[in-house]
Order: sequence, then structure tokens, then C-alpha cells
Amino acid sequence: MNNFTYQKVSNPNDALNKISKNNAANFIAGGTNLIDLWKYNLAHPKTLVDINGLNDYKAIKEDDHGGLFLGALATNSDTAYHKLVEERYPLLSKAILAGASAQIRNSASNGGNLLQRTRCYYFYDASSPCNKRNPGSGCPAKNGLNRIHAILGTSEDCIAVFPSDMCIALAALEAVVHVKSPDGEREIEFSNFHRLPGDTPELDNNLKENELITGISLPSEGFAENYSYLKLRDRNSYAFALVSVATGMVLENNKITKIRIALGGIAHKPWRVVAAEEFLVDKSPTEENFASAANMILKGAKGFGKNDFKIELSKRAIVRNCIMALDPESQRPGAQPSL
Ligand SMILES: Cc1cc2nc3c(=O)[nH]c(=O)nc-3n(C[C@H](O)[C@H](O)[C@H](O)COP(=O)(O)OP(=O)(O)OC[C@H]3O[C@@H](n4cnc5c(N)ncnc54)[C@H](O)[C@@H]3O)c2cc1C
Ligand code: SF4
Repeated sequence: MNNFTYQKVSNPNDALNKISKNNAANFIAGGTNLIDLWKYNLAHPKTLVDINGLNDYKAIKEDDHGGLFLGALATNSDTAYHKLVEERYPLLSKAILAGASAQIRNSASNGGNLLQRTRCYYFYDASSPCNKRNPGSGCPAKNGLNRIHAILGTSEDCIAVFPSDMCIALAALEAVVHVKSPDGEREIEFSNFHRLPGDTPELDNNLKENELITGISLPSEGFAENYSYLKLRDRNSYAFALVSVATGMVLENNKITKIRIALGGIAHKPWRVVAAEEFLVDKSPTEENFASAANMILKGAKGFGKNDFKIELSKRAIVRNCIMALDPESQRPGAQPSL
């Protein structure tokens, strides 16, 4: 039996006060990841600070810069089905709805989605060595079961992937994360939020101790005309991505004027290669050009035996998803795919 204290808060300063004075305290939002980690004996909170009463952070509203603010405590479902998200950022709706199950999305919060932990089998087995869970103990995945593991941005210490779908769309949209701490507020560009493992695989992201995520802002460009999210996985539902791709693009006179391509399931953070996106600007949206960009994105990719297939799969997924983005309507239920 794990004894713990439960405290519900309704204002952010109270939340920060409770967490900063107690090393063994954890925020809990939807609980869909934290409770699992706890049950697997990987998290040991002595105090749960329930932040679901922070109503100001449940809102989804237009901001003063033509973008949209997504409260950290808004659920994944409320976000995906929000009229403004569906209309202006359909890439985000599609990515969220590709994840988990309806029941989990109804509980999962936007802030919690950013902080979900890897699904590496060894990380979840408390009896196994794992540098992320127990720094210095080793990484059995490198020579073990690594079908779901990373092919880019790996280190000697860890080859885990970040499993979110929502965050891959947020990376393509170039979202900004808003955080608050007892020292004040700050903003973190999405590309700087998650980390590569390097020699500190225990750190998944650049959030500091005692920081509360308050929301995520989306810029005005939502790629509502040309977008696509492709998730490739072992089962068609209720499974994490082996490879996923989020593409948003702007076209003028059959030339690409702006494009963002982010990959999931292949690295410790959402993966973008700006040089490949720049290469595509002013080019026609052809399979050949997308294939060249895919080669640039996968440059330096390295498999660990059981995940070698992800290199070719990622290249094909990029090309297919970029072509699907040319005709998003074809992805509606019942529509025939264009490829
Ligand atoms: C069976 C299953 C299948 C899943 N499949 C998918 C999938 O296919 N794709 C996908 O993307 N995800 C998937 N998920 C993950 C799910 O999306 C996450 O568990 C969920 O988004 C986490 O949100 P939460 O609010 O429940 O977080 P919690 O579990 O409440 O919290 C997670 C962590 O974040 C911290 N935290 C929460 N909110 C804040 C905040 N505002 N500020 C600071 N810290 C905070 C908590 O302290 C905790 O450490 C799946 C989960 C399950 C259980
Ligand atoms: S890949 Fe990372 S999370 Fe998995 S066993 Fe190795 S160190 Fe642990």
C-alpha cells in the first residue's frame, strides 16, 4: 500500500506553492500516464496536487496575435473537437484523434500529453536496467528488443522515442509552450521543449523543477488547406506510432511557398529538419521532390537491428503523407485515397 496525500487546487499560485515546498509532490491532470507509472513502481508521489480545478487553463481561445491559445488543462478530446481547432488547425485535430482511445483522450490533458514518458519496454520494467530510469545502469534496448526504438538523435546512453501524436502536429505548427513557476512566467519554443537523450537520458524535456505548463499557443498559420497526419503502427487503433508524419504546407500556383514536416516514433523528440523544408520551397509538390526531402530528413539514421525497417518506412511515410496533404479531403472517412 502506498500512502499519499491528495490536494486539490483552484489557483495556480497555490499549485506552485504546494509543489515547490514538497520534493515528493507531483501535479496530476488526467492521470492517464502518471497513474500507470505509479502502478508500475516507476513514480513514487507522496503528494498529488490535482490541478484540474485551474479553470483558467481549460480555455481554448483566440489570442491577440491571430493565433489560438490551448489551455494546458483542456482535454485532448475538447481540443481535437473544438470548432476553431477543426477549422483552423485540422492537422492538430487529426493527430490527437490518431492517439490512444476516446476514453483516454477524454481524460488526458494537453499539458500532460507533452510530458508523457517513453513506452520503451525496459523503462516500464522496474527490474530491468535502464539509464532513463536509473542513470548509469545501462541500456538493454540497444542490443535487445528495439523494434519501437529511435533511428535518429540517439546516444550511447538511450535510444528511446517520445510517443506522442499530438506533439508531432504541434512541432509542425511551431507551437509555443507557456509555463509558470514561483519565479515568473516564460515561453518555450516547441523545438526546444523536448530533448535528445545525450548523456542525460533521465531528462525528457527542458521544463524546470516546479514549473507548471499553463498552455500552448499556435501561430496564425494553421495549414488548414493542405495538411496530413499519417500514423503507421502495428495495430490500427490503440497503439503508439512506429513512424508518424505531420505535414502542413502552403501552395501558390502549384509551388510550395511554406512547408513543415515533423516525424514521430523515430527519435527522443519530434523530429524536424529545417534544411529539408527549405529545399522544398519554390519547388513543385512532386513525389520526386518529396523523396529528395525525405532523404535529407533521414540522413544519418541508424537502426539497432530490429528497428532498421524504420529508415525506409520513414522515407516512404514522408512522401506518402506530403502527397496526401495535397488533397486532405480524400482522407475523410469513406473517401478513396489519392495514392
Ligand atoms: C493505453 C494508452 C494508450 C495511449 N496511446 C497514445 C497514443 O497512441 N498517442 C499519444 O499521443 N498518447 C497516447 N497515450 C498517452 C496519453 O495521451 C497521455 O497519457 C496523456 O496525454 C497524458 O495526459 P494526462 O493529463 O493524463 O497526464 P498525467 O498522467 O496527469 O500527467 C503526466 C505527467 O505530466 C505532469 N503534468 C500534467 N499536467 C501538467 C502541467 N500542466 N504542468 C506541469 N506538469 C504537468 C504530471 O505531474 C505527470 O508527471 C496513451 C495512454 C494510454 C494509457
Ligand atoms: S532506450 Fe532509454 S528508456 Fe529504453 S532501456 Fe535504454 S535507456 Fe532505458
